[in-house]
Amino acid sequence: MALNHTRLIPYCEVLKEKTDMVENHELRKAGLKVTLPRVKILQMLDNTEDRHMSAEDVYRSLMEAGDDVGLATVYRVLTQFETAGLVVRHNFDGGHAVFELADGEHHDHMVCVDTGEVIEFFDEKIERRQMEIVEEHGYEMVDHILVLYVKNKK
Ligand SMILES: [Zn+2]
Repeated sequence: MALNHTRLIPYCEVLKEKTDMVENHELRKAGLKVTLPRVKILQMLDNTEDRHMSAEDVYRSLMEAGDDVGLATVYRVLTQFETAGLVVRHNFDGGHAVFELADGEHHDHMVCVDTGEVIEFFDEKIERRQMEIVEEHGYEMVDHILVLYVKNKK
């Protein structure tokens, strides 16, 4: 029991902040135990401007923020998040897998082949047209992924 108590101390510190409470709730809801690396990584994904981050991006940002989480841990936690449905993994061509929080809103992606930048978009007409094409073939849509590979017009 003493062992458990000492292990709980960092988690208690984490619990002090309100935003952390939200992250903790998200983790528990996903059936994951609240651990410091999981909280830090979830916060990073939640607070970043860049909605699509590779494991290396997450690792680097945590380091810059002074959080010492190893790259192997970042990989492992992101995979656990993916399994739990907290994040979506994209394997865009020609780059590392990127992860984004699963917020339930459907959108498609453009990837810049020069910079690797990921741009989100949603187009009513494209969505509708895809449904029609599927139906014309006698099927119903289960899911779709649309990725446009683009480059900056010079
Ligand atoms: Zn996205």
